[in-house]
Amino acid sequence: MKTRVVVLGAGFGGLELTTMLSETLGAEVDVTLIDKNDSFVFGYSKLDVMFGRSTLEDVRLPYREIVKPGVRFVRETITSIDPEARSVTTGGAVHEADVLVVALGADYDFDATPGLLEAGNEFYSVAGAQRLSELLPEFSQGRALIGVCDAPFKCPPAPSETALLLHDYLSTRGLREDCEISFVLPLGSPVPPSPDTSRALLAAFAERDITFVPGRRVSSLDPARQVAVLDDGSELPYDLFLGVPKHRAPDVVIESGMAENGYIPVDSKTLQTRFPGVYAVGDVTTAGVPKAGVFSEGAARVVAASLIASIRGGEQPQPYDGRGICYIEFGAGRIGRVEVDFLSGPKPTGTFGEPSAALAADKQRFGSTRRARWFGR
Ligand SMILES: Cc1cc2nc3c(=O)[nH]c(=O)nc-3n(C[C@H](O)[C@H](O)[C@H](O)COP(=O)(O)OP(=O)(O)OC[C@H]3O[C@@H](n4cnc5c(N)ncnc54)[C@H](O)[C@@H]3O)c2cc1C
Repeated sequence: MKTRVVVLGAGFGGLELTTMLSETLGAEVDVTLIDKNDSFVFGYSKLDVMFGRSTLEDVRLPYREIVKPGVRFVRETITSIDPEARSVTTGGAVHEADVLVVALGADYDFDATPGLLEAGNEFYSVAGAQRLSELLPEFSQGRALIGVCDAPFKCPPAPSETALLLHDYLSTRGLREDCEISFVLPLGSPVPPSPDTSRALLAAFAERDITFVPGRRVSSLDPARQVAVLDDGSELPYDLFLGVPKHRAPDVVIESGMAENGYIPVDSKTLQTRFPGVYAVGDVTTAGVPKAGVFSEGAARVVAASLIASIRGGEQPQPYDGRGICYIEFGAGRIGRVEVDFLSGPKPTGTFGEPSAALAADKQRFGSTRRARWFGR
């Protein structure tokens, strides 16, 4: 009998996991990969769409292109998960698993920030980024406010990148003098584990006259007065709001009883949940790492290696180390890099690579290697 592995969610974690299983085990294993969407979009591609550098069509990677021995992709919406029975119900079927891997990511809780949907815009969903790509060309003067509504949120450097890219966008159109840019972040610095990276970003904000408000979150927006209310009661007026919504685990995860304090607790070394045969990777977990694709992918690789060892009878892999490389857009085609290590030492550390055109090429390679491995293109 083949081991039946059911993978919930075809994002960074689910795609890497199924690719590794297929590469090593091929048809020796029976993998079902389930996602409600018809395509994958890299998180950073949302910034390209928002600033009109790419269209959605350019950046969509359709799941129908996944052709891997041992793997079957099904486009279904998961409606319930029974972690005790390792059984998953979707709109169309029930999937029974020997091994279940939950990689359902983090959803957005728009209602947690009153006024966000009516009065503001968000750039963390594909639809939100697309909408902003239509609004930005109309913005020619006034106050732009980039506001993060709560932490944790995906890819902590992404709102900093947005502030720098917005500066470029307005400068290219000759409008920068007529516009103000402010940026509200719940963290004390742009990239807390790497003081060098934070210093470089703060210097970039100062050079570009971007007002940075650290340690604060946007708790509501008042559409009538066009002000954002921060968590200390202070107010910031805006003409264009670009928001990062509060995150939360998908409802189906909360309803499954797997989550505690909002996300699924896992053993950060093995990614096992408290349910036998059930793993969880990526943004849906509390694994001691930030919410970012590189960490979802790294965790998925450890789970895949562990399953391969169990099926083939080899040694279990080294524990998950919480290391990852994040690329950070500084504008003008220059990209910096921070190499972070969250789990192997007593506290998180990060090493900064100065922004350069060479690192921009590295980031391109980061995307193209994954595109090739996961989608064969
Ligand atoms: C603007 C922006 C920029 C970013 N830049 C970077 C970056 O440069 N580097 C980086 O590493 N990360 C970046 N990220 C973060 C990255 O996109 C996420 O952290 C990553 O995708 C998380 O991977 P995951 O596998 O945990 O979940 P996801 O990739 O979110 O995948 C979860 C999947 O589960 C599916 N799903 C959810 N609920 C259901 C359901 N009920 N039924 C069926 N399917 C369901 C979803 O459709 C989704 O495909 C960025 C994010 C944003 C928003």
